[in-house]
Amino acid sequence: MEKMSRSKKKSSPRFIFVVGGVLSGLGKGIVTSSIGSILKAGGYSVTAVKIDPYINIDAGTMRPTEHGEVYVTEDGGEIDQDLGNYERFLNTHIPKRNNITTGQIYLSVIEKERQLKYKGRDVEVIPDIVNEAKRRMLQCTEGFDFTLVEVGGTTGDIENLVFLHAVRELTREYPSVSVMVTYLPYLKNVNELKTKPTQHAMSKLREVGIFPDFVVARSEIGIDKPRRWIISKRCFIDEEYTIDNPDLESIYTLPLLFEKQDFGEKILAKFGIKHDIDLKEWRRYSNKLKNAEKELNIALIGKYVSHGKTEHADVYLSVLEAIKHACAYNGVKPKITQIQSTQFDENPPRKVLEGFDCAIVPGGFGSTGIEGKITAIKYLRENNIPFLGLCLGMQLAVIEYARNVCDMKGANSTEMDADTPYPIIDIMPEQKDLIKNKRYGATMRLGAYPAILKKGTIVRGLYSNDEVSERHRHRYEVNPEYVEKLEQKGMVFSGASPDGKLMEFIELPEHKFFVATQGHPEFKSTPLKAHPLFMGLIKACLK
Ligand code: GLN
Repeated sequence: MEKMSRSKKKSSPRFIFVVGGVLSGLGKGIVTSSIGSILKAGGYSVTAVKIDPYINIDAGTMRPTEHGEVYVTEDGGEIDQDLGNYERFLNTHIPKRNNITTGQIYLSVIEKERQLKYKGRDVEVIPDIVNEAKRRMLQCTEGFDFTLVEVGGTTGDIENLVFLHAVRELTREYPSVSVMVTYLPYLKNVNELKTKPTQHAMSKLREVGIFPDFVVARSEIGIDKPRRWIISKRCFIDEEYTIDNPDLESIYTLPLLFEKQDFGEKILAKFGIKHDIDLKEWRRYSNKLKNAEKELNIALIGKYVSHGKTEHADVYLSVLEAIKHACAYNGVKPKITQIQSTQFDENPPRKVLEGFDCAIVPGGFGSTGIEGKITAIKYLRENNIPFLGLCLGMQLAVIEYARNVCDMKGANSTEMDADTPYPIIDIMPEQKDLIKNKRYGATMRLGAYPAILKKGTIVRGLYSNDEVSERHRHRYEVNPEYVEKLEQKGMVFSGASPDGKLMEFIELPEHKFFVATQGHPEFKSTPLKAHPLFMGLIKACLK
């Protein structure tokens, strides 16, 4: 991934605001990311900001089953998963300050008030909260040609109103383009897309003083001429400025669909810039997706999979995406099955796991489903099925090895069993006090940390580098007291922190592919640059 590209010259910020109408869950993040990827392909420096109207300071303290994946940035932010999409599409690093929440805004305004910074006057939503929101958005623009700002929530919500007011002011003060992403429901009985909800959403948006330049129309089947016409007449958006965005098989084809409609060129024209953009790299990636024929059966053994009658789609979002990237580069189609590990707590995994080409055990917290994951890892190890463990996945692979190969009965992590006779995984000393004092938010070992890889190991070969950096989010680690014993029985600790104290990678050399890491490599995989560990896993399946 390249470093943040920053052009030297100081110029006025240019904003592209993306707001949502009608429904949540429309993929505003993917639209925002795709616009960004087009501008990036045009050679512009682009960054993206996500506004989350919740009171939480960040996503770090939220339940994965409620909020989905907590994304981790290089600088240790525990943030909204949309920023993961920005990084994947823009192939760049987004800092944590680019995720702005209501909580952050109020907290800093209240702190300023306590410090008498408002000189004794009334502190109000307008202008003080709005100004703080603007200040934070402006601060993200520094050094970039374009700043995309996605406002979370839907027009008409109480929660994002303050941010919409801030956007309204910024559109008057700086060169800006606004895009409303909307949904056109398809009614089977009349066999057409309906625009009425969009008309209402548009008038709501105009009420706060935002007059969008574009409508991105999400729908099941794609917009047609009559619906474009209605939107132009009733929402005052010329037909050519309604951009079609039907459901797609892969999100990574959206930049190309936008390119077909000259969306990038039309946005640039609004800023008075004439420039033809060519999405070569995206076309190449999309061809890889199209040409993939062979299917790989991949198991993702998680503990936050079940969700009523359905499965959570976005708890392991970055892992799912990283698998897709590596599969595309290897010319195969992934068939990913998310498997709830609690089902193996008591039942053997053979019946369920038989037939899978490989399996991934991702991160997680707390004791639910842990025994099931350990049983599954044992099965994968003993049956020579390629395995990749991520964070908790690595910790459990070490525990499994200690229990079943090194005869350490009852070996565990002190996170799951404080009285285990073999605390193979233990809390990091600096984390102990934080937990004791109930300081949970933003206190884990977070963000990018370097690791030194051992010569001749599998991971050294995959990364083609002696020193690597991955993002972290954990409180527990491999207990160094047990490393030697595990090594004597064949486990290789193939990478550690530069001071040699923290174990970062493990592997089993005799196995087809048994690799795990304390980091979260999934956060650094992008469609234009698949991650070496995921590449290794998929290649092992094809051997
Ligand atoms: N719960 C484990 C820890 O805190 C693993 C965390 C994770 O998988 N992100 O160390």
